[in-house]
Parts: sequence; C-alpha cells; structure tokens
Amino acid sequence: MNEQMYEGKAKILYKTDDNEVSLMHFKDDITAGDGAKKDTMIDKGKLNCTISKKIFEYLEKQRGIPTHYISSPNANEQLVKKLKILPIEVIVRNIAAGSICRRYGVRKGHIFKTPLLELFYKDDDLHDPLVRDSVILEMEWCTAHELAEIKRQAFIVHDKMTNYWKEYDLKLVDAKYEFGLDSDGNIMLADEVTPDSCRLWDKDGNSLDKDVFRQGTDMDKVSTVYNYIHDMIHADPIG
Ligand code: C5P
Repeated sequence: MNEQMYEGKAKILYKTDDNEVSLMHFKDDITAGDGAKKDTMIDKGKLNCTISKKIFEYLEKQRGIPTHYISSPNANEQLVKKLKILPIEVIVRNIAAGSICRRYGVRKGHIFKTPLLELFYKDDDLHDPLVRDSVILEMEWCTAHELAEIKRQAFIVHDKMTNYWKEYDLKLVDAKYEFGLDSDGNIMLADEVTPDSCRLWDKDGNSLDKDVFRQGTDMDKVSTVYNYIHDMIHADPIG
C-alpha cells in the first residue's frame, strides 16, 4: 500500500516509488456546504476520474495547456505530477450563481460582461475565505509572479472550457481551478475538472453538476447527471 500524503473530501493523494509522481484516488464521497452535507454515490470516483482524465487530455494535447495529468492506471485513479499545490482556489465566473449571489446580492443567472475572477484561500478551518491580492502576497501564500501566472492560466483554461462545453450545448456558469509548481518551478493546472468543480447549465437552465446534490436529496438524480456528463464526452469527443 502506498503511503498517503493528503486526504481531501473527494480525493486521496498517495506517494509512489517515483518521487516526481503521485497517485490520485477519486473517492465515491460527495460533499457540499463545506462538508456539512455528505453522502456517497455509486461509481462517483470512477466517473469523476474519467471525466477529468478526458478533459485534462483535451486541454494538454489539443490546446497545449500544461496539466499535472500523466495517466490513469485504474478507472478511479490517476498518476499525476507531484506538485507543490498553491493554497489558492481560482474561481472564474461567466454567469452568477452560488456564493457570489449571496455575497453581493447579484441575481442568479446574471451574465457578467467579461469572465469574473475571484481568489479564495484554501483552508478548511477558515472555510476557504475570499481573499484579495494584497492579502495573498502579505501572507506569502504565493509570489507575485505565481499569482499573475495562475490568473493568466485560469483565464485561458476557462476560455477553452467555456468553448468545450458550448460544443455540447451546455453553458459553463463558473469553475474552480487549482494550480501547482513542479520541481523546476513550472506552474500548471492541477486537481480536477469535473461536475464537482464547475457549474453547467443546459439550454433550459437545468443544472448538470453538483448543484443537483447541493439542492436536493435524490441521489439517483445526482448519479444520472454525472453519468450523463461522462457518457456525453465519451460518446462524442471534441477535437
Ligand atoms: O461556492 P461558489 O458558488 O463560489 O462556487 C463557484 C464554483 O466553484 C462552483 O462551480 C463550485 O462547484 C466550485 N467550487 C469548488 N470547490 C470549492 C468551492 C467552489 O469546486 N471549494
């Protein structure tokens, strides 16, 4: 058994024999509201792992975007580059939903003139607070260069993902991206891109993402949505 390095709500990271490579295990757990709501979903780990694999391969091979993804030895596991993860969640929004509506009283569905980027400090005990650049730099959570670079990459990835989902007639409402540094100091996209980490609406405004779990109790419905996204991107791959 590989030694565990980190356990999050939905994933576990293990060491491997190669010091440059980690094993990322996707759990069947699903959580919302900062862990207040919890359940398990059959095959969620496999579905999210396979969705994220497909998207990271697309971003890397077809759009030239560096990511941590290497390969997927099992349906619910990925080998990924061992990175120093920056403790910043970069959220980019095309349409208002979720926390921004509560924070600023903006109407759900409001379309932003241009993608809106917000930064959150990754800290469970502090409940991932919204942070401004000056605080990030003062607290030395990352350097000015790293901050500029993750913002630049987040806008590029988000633009590619907006167009990606558009090909399937889905609107990308918002998404959360994480970045890390490899041993040479290269900054790249990490973590996952899945219905856990973004909001997707169909043309009638139905959610095809974790909001179905956040707002409901029917785990069959949640499972149907994750299976739908999985099957859709595999049946008709883009590019
Ligand atoms: O919570 P909020 O509405 O600000 O979330 C914006 C986007 O970021 C959503 O797509 C949500 O799923 C994602 N997110 C995430 N992990 C977090 C917080 C938000 O994937 N810790």
